[in-house]
Amino acid sequence: MSWPTQQDTKTAFETGLPPHHGIDHVVVVGAGLAGLGAAYELIKQGTRVTVLEASGHPGGRTRTIRAPFSDGLRSEAGAMTVTNQCDYTVHYLRETGLETEPSDLVGTDFSYYRGGVRIRPDTTADHASLLGLHPHEKDLSITEMVRRYVTEPNEEIGPELLSSAWSVSPRLLELDRRSVREVLHERGASAAAIGLIEPFFLEMRGGELGSASAMAWARYESGPRSLFDAGTKWNKIKGGTDMLARALAGKIADRIVYRAPVVRLAQDEHEAQVTFLDRNRLQTLSADRVIVTAPFSGMRRINLAAAGLSAEKHATMRRLRYASASRIALQMRRQFWPEQQLMLSTDGPVGTVRDATPRRPEGRKILECWFSGWSAQAVADMGEEERIDFTLAEIEPILPGAREHFELGTSVAWDNERHIEGAYILPELGHHDLMEHARRPEGRLHFAGEHTAYEPNGGSMNYALESGLRTVLELSAA
Ligand SMILES: Cc1cc2nc3c(=O)[nH]c(=O)nc-3n(C[C@H](O)[C@H](O)[C@H](O)COP(=O)(O)OP(=O)(O)OC[C@H]3O[C@@H](n4cnc5c(N)ncnc54)[C@H](O)[C@@H]3O)c2cc1C
Repeated sequence: MSWPTQQDTKTAFETGLPPHHGIDHVVVVGAGLAGLGAAYELIKQGTRVTVLEASGHPGGRTRTIRAPFSDGLRSEAGAMTVTNQCDYTVHYLRETGLETEPSDLVGTDFSYYRGGVRIRPDTTADHASLLGLHPHEKDLSITEMVRRYVTEPNEEIGPELLSSAWSVSPRLLELDRRSVREVLHERGASAAAIGLIEPFFLEMRGGELGSASAMAWARYESGPRSLFDAGTKWNKIKGGTDMLARALAGKIADRIVYRAPVVRLAQDEHEAQVTFLDRNRLQTLSADRVIVTAPFSGMRRINLAAAGLSAEKHATMRRLRYASASRIALQMRRQFWPEQQLMLSTDGPVGTVRDATPRRPEGRKILECWFSGWSAQAVADMGEEERIDFTLAEIEPILPGAREHFELGTSVAWDNERHIEGAYILPELGHHDLMEHARRPEGRLHFAGEHTAYEPNGGSMNYALESGLRTVLELSAA
C-alpha cells in the first residue's frame, strides 16, 4: 500500500478530494484543527462522522483568551500567526468567511534585556563586552549575524531545503544527528550571538537549542514561516485565532460530542471500536475508520492494548517530545512604557514580554509574557495566583511600574492542559526516524495532528489542517 505524499495531498486539495468507498462511519478523536478539517471534508463528501472531543470547546491549541479581561480585550494562549504561504489555513479562513489583519509580531519596537540593560538591536556593538560577543562579531548587526550564521550557510545545504514538498537528502539526514547549537558554533557564532538571534527562531523557542535537530531548524528557517523571510506577510485572524475552529465546528455542530474523552481504542478485521466517557457512563462506538488527532503527549490517557499498533508506533509515541510553553496575560490600567509596540526578549525566566494590544494607545492594555522550555515548566508547577505574582516580580525591574498598573491576570500552561500536555512538537536529534512512524496508518486507525506532519517542524495550524486532509485521502486510498 502506498500512502499519500505531501504533494499528493496538495494536488488532491487543489483538484478535489477523491471519494472513498465502503466506509460508512468515521470517528474523529479530537476537535482541534486537524480533527475539524478532516471531519468537515468527510461530511461534505456525505460520510457519517462522529467527532469526540475531550474538552468542552473546539480548537485545541488555538485558544483566544477573553475572560476575565475588561473592555473586550483579548490575548492568545496558543497560535497567533498566519502567513500568506499557509495555504490550508488561508483556504479555510476564506471558506468560513473570516478575515485576517496584519500581525503585531512584526514591525515591533523590539529590544533585548540582557544583564539588567535594555539594548536595542542596532546598539549591540555598544554592549559587546556585556553581551560577550566575539571580537569579530562586535560590529555585526543582528541582520548580518543572521546572514552569516543562518541564511547563507543554509542556502549552501541545497535546494531541498526550499522545496515546497519535504524530502530528506543525505546531507539533511546528517544534520538531523546534530543540534542547532553545535551547528551554529561550528559556523563561528559565539554563545552571545546565538542568544541574540535565538528569539527569532520562533518555533524553537520552547526547545533547547542543544537538543533541537539542526535538520528541522534549517528547513524551518529557510522557509516562508521564518521571521527572516522578508517576503512573508505575517497576519493574524481578525477577532481572535479561535474564530477559525469555532467557524469550522459551527458547520458540523451536530456531529461533535464535547466532554467526551476517548479512553480506549480497539480494532479487529471487521471494525474499530472507540470507547469514550459520556458523563458518568462509558459508551462504545463502532466505526469503519478512526482518525486519531490527539497529541502523542496525551495518548497515554487512551488504552491501546487492543488497538493492534506496531512496536514502531508505540515507540514513536513514547519518544516524540513536546515543547513546554506557558503564557501569562496581565491586564494593565494603562500603558506605562514608552514604546508604541513593545516587544522585549529577556535573559530571565520570562523569555518575551510584549504588548498584545499595540493598536490601542489609550486605556487598558494587555501584557503577554511568554515562558518557554524549563521556565515554562517551572511556572506550570505554580498555582495561578503564584504564577501571576512570580511574573509581576520578574517584569518589575524590566518594566518599572508593572505592579502598580496591574489589574488582573490569567494564564495557560500548556503542559498542564489535560489531553494536550505540551505546546507543540519539539523535533530533537534523530527526529527524522520518527516522522514516518508518527504518520503511518495502522489498520483502521489513521493519525492526524501537527505531530504527524510531513514537515519536520510541523507545529502549526497549517500543517495540522494538512494532516487532516491527508487522512481523508488515506481513506480513499485504503
Ligand atoms: C503557544 C503556542 C503558540 C503557537 N503559535 C502558532 C502560530 O503562531 N501559528 C500557527 O500556525 N501555529 C501555532 N501554534 C501551533 C498550533 O496551535 C498547533 O500546531 C495546532 O493548533 C495543532 O492542532 P491539532 O489539531 O494538531 O492539535 P490540537 O489543537 O491539540 O487538537 C487536539 C484535540 O484533541 C483533543 N483530545 C486529546 N485527547 C483526546 C481524547 N482522548 N479524547 C478526545 N479528544 C482528545 C484535545 O482536547 C484537542 O482539542 C502554536 C501553539 C502554541 C501552544
